[in-house]
Order: sequence, then C-alpha cells, then structure tokens
Amino acid sequence: MPLSTYTQAAGDAVRNVGDVASGLATPRLRLGVTGLARSGKTVFITALVHNLIASGRLPFFDAGAEGRLIRVYLEPQPDEIVPRFEYERHLADLTAEPPTWPESTRQISQLRLTLEYASTRFWKRQLGRERLHIDIVDYPGEWLLDLPLLQRDYASWARDAVAQAREADREAAAKDWNTALGEIDPAEPADEALAAKLADLFKTYLREARSDQYALSTLPPGRFLMPGDLAGSPALTFAPLDAKGADSFPRGSLWSLMERRYEAYKTYVVRPFFRDHFARLDRQVVLIDVLAALNGGPAAVADLERAMTEILECFRTGANNLWSNLFAPRIDRIALAATKADHLHHESHDRLEAILSLLTDKALARARYRGADVNVLALAAIRATQEGEAKRGTQTLPCIVGYPLKGEKIGRRIFDGNEPFAIFPGDLPEDPKKALSGWQTEHGNMRFVRFRPPDPVQLPSGGVAPFPNIRLDRAIQTLIGDRLA
Ligand code: GDP
Repeated sequence: MPLSTYTQAAGDAVRNVGDVASGLATPRLRLGVTGLARSGKTVFITALVHNLIASGRLPFFDAGAEGRLIRVYLEPQPDEIVPRFEYERHLADLTAEPPTWPESTRQISQLRLTLEYASTRFWKRQLGRERLHIDIVDYPGEWLLDLPLLQRDYASWARDAVAQAREADREAAAKDWNTALGEIDPAEPADEALAAKLADLFKTYLREARSDQYALSTLPPGRFLMPGDLAGSPALTFAPLDAKGADSFPRGSLWSLMERRYEAYKTYVVRPFFRDHFARLDRQVVLIDVLAALNGGPAAVADLERAMTEILECFRTGANNLWSNLFAPRIDRIALAATKADHLHHESHDRLEAILSLLTDKALARARYRGADVNVLALAAIRATQEGEAKRGTQTLPCIVGYPLKGEKIGRRIFDGNEPFAIFPGDLPEDPKKALSGWQTEHGNMRFVRFRPPDPVQLPSGGVAPFPNIRLDRAIQTLIGDRLA
C-alpha cells in the first residue's frame, strides 16, 4: 500500500476521533426541511431562525416560553462543500422597503444554529448552561420523489412515464411532448441534438404540469424540475422514449443513449443525495401547500396524495430493502405541515390540519409505513394577513385582509401591490373527506391570491422584530422541543 494511503487513513481516523470528541462536547441535531417547490421552505427556515435568534413570542415552544433559552446564534456549518443557507440575504429581502419574499430554494443548503439553554433537570442545571447545535438542511422535495427510480430500470420507468403523460389530467400540459415522442423511432442512431431537444420538451411538460393551473406534484426525475448545480449536464439530458412494442434496441441507438444517461442519473445524482445527505438527518419537516392543491382541483389533490405516499416511503425504516442495503435512515420524528394558513380565516385552520391528517393517513396506509413518529400541523411561518369581517346583505363573512402582490387578480380586478384588500377566501369543508373528493365551495374554487409580506417592525434595540406567524411555535416544539428538556 502506498504511503499516502496510510497517511490518508490515519488522517481520517484523527478526524473521526475529532468528530466524536466534538459530538460529546455539544450534541447536534440534523433537521431536514423539505417540500415541493414554493411550498414555503425558505420562508419557514428564515422565520424559524429569526424567531429563535431574536426571542420571538413562541408560547407553545416550551424552552422559549419558560425562559430557558439563554442565547441563540449562528455558527459555521459542519459540511464545507454544501452551500450555506443564505439567511441574512433572505431576511434582508423580507425587511426591505417595501418588503419582498425571498428567493426560493433551488438546491441543497445548510445552516448551523447553536442554542444555549437551561435544562429542566435540577442536576443538569447545576452543571451550567447546555448547548445544542441544530444543523438545518434545506433541500427540494422533488429530489425525494426519485427514490423509486433506484429500483427501476429505464424500460419500466419510460413505460410508465410515457403512459402518464397521456393521462387525461396531463394531456394538455404534455401536448408538444406527446407529439414529438410519437414521431421518434427509438432505434434510430443516437444524436446529441435530438436527445437535448427531447429532454427539453420533457422538462417543459413537467414544468407546465407543475404550474398553478394543473398543480400536479409527482413528476420525477426530481432534478428535472430542480436541477441544483447540475443544470445542462449530460446526466440530466435524457427523457423517456416510447418503445413502441420493441423489447431490445441496438447499441448506439437513441434508446441506448437515453438508457445510459438514466443509469448515470441514478448512480451519480440520486444515490449520493440519499447516502450523503438524506440518511444523515435526525428529524424532518415536510412542508406542503395543501391549499394550492385544493385550488387545483381533484386531479391535483389525488396527485398530492401520491406525492405524499412516495415521500413518506422514503422515511420508512425496517422492511425497505433499499434502505437496509444502502442508506438506513435514522429519522425518528417527522412533522408534516400545511403552509400558508394565513390565507384562511382562523376558523379554518383546524380544518386544514384535519385535511392534511386525512391525506397523510391514507398515504401512510398506502406506504405500509413503519418508522418515525409523524405529527401533522397547519402553519404560516410569516403571517401576511389580518382578520376582519365583511357584510354581504344580512350575512357577516369572516375575511382576511392583506396587500395582494402586484399583478394578482380576483375576478376582473388586477392589484397594484399597494392597496389592502379584504377577501372572503371561502370555508374549508367541515368534513375533511369532502376536500379529498372533488369538493368546491359554493362560490367555486377557494379564492387565493399571493400577499406581500407584512411591514417590518424595527426594534428599539436595533434589528427587526420577528414577524407574526401562525403555529410556528408548535412546529418548533414538535421538531426540537424534547431535545431542550
Ligand atoms: P420554497 O420554494 O419551498 O423555498 O418556497 P418559499 O419559501 O420561497 O415560498 C414560496 C412563496 O410562498 C413565497 O414567495 C410566498 O409568496 C409564499 N409563502 C411562503 N410562506 C408563506 C407564509 O407563511 N405566508 C404567506 N402568506 N405566504 C407564504
């Protein structure tokens, strides 16, 4: 064995001992934050960190409410090759004049938060303050939908993906893609330009199906919607082809090129993500824009349920062969949170939670789930609305009031971003089953517009006060409360 290998190994050993030693000194919790695009990850992490650092009012977060949090601050993160979550930049956007929403998650990132606190236990308190590192790992939920690909070969994936694009609820979004696919002979010689064109058309279809109009969720490969730093690389330049009845193709054909790239995608993109990042998480919060799916109609709700099933499957430990062979996740607690609850009057918050619970129960049953504890809640990490009432005839309707973003529409009205507006969003049904089976309010769809963030409030001591929120404290308690006892 060359000398350099020995020294390398010795170096690793020293580093491992160092890891253990620092682990002994300060325990750490790796907290994954995920959800599909625009589900609210960036806003959630920014609000969570801001509230902890600036001692926001969090009555249901025990350590905060009991005055046991002594100091919370950011420290350099442990993983040097993972980009840092840009907390300061996101907070600057939210506190700008006028405030704007921060740029959404596009790839994996990390942030280390250190909490100094007093334990509830007498003897521990005598030993002085305790410390806990929380390593927050933000990553696109789309990447989790790739797990099933690891067990599938190209032919079986392509068969399903081609059939799915022809389903009624996707047909409109997939029109150009389906036409192009119909004209392709997969046995023809591989051609880079053609492969790139097909990959582009396939991605356009996935993006279109994901848009507000269709609001579909389950659209792997995940990196096609959220490429991170891999945009344009050959591992992402493939697409499913229609085998048109054939069961083998010559070497050098378009089919074999696509097949090779699909396998490369699994080996170099999907597997390392699960092994290096996902399998190291201790806790996980999955953010879900349930309201967008309800607004998208029954196909979007059914698809969200499918996405939830696949996502929960990733957290299943034990019987899953993939896990025991490859990564063995260690997550012991998952919070599933319906975001943007400030789009509803508070009377509907419990209903939103009930809808998500039902959706999750069904998904858990389908995933034949075993593993971590699952908790469900509805929250708004940043509350952009206030509540009010409006009169319609003799009726009093519970409304929400906020500043719709520039360009948002209700009926024929287009907003300029500067006027407050009271909206009756519609009530969620009392029976959550109705919401999952193609229900609409008596006024048609629920009415959602995007609101601009609330105006920041300057603190006399400098800095900006944490924003109002809905049930963010419960989420924090669920995720880390027990570790601060
Ligand atoms: P990400 O893609 O998961 O990182 O999503 P973001 O955190 O960037 O959120 C996407 C958009 O959803 C934001 O730009 C906001 O318009 C909206 N949003 C997210 N969280 C909230 C919230 O708590 N309240 C409101 N009203 N809107 C939110």
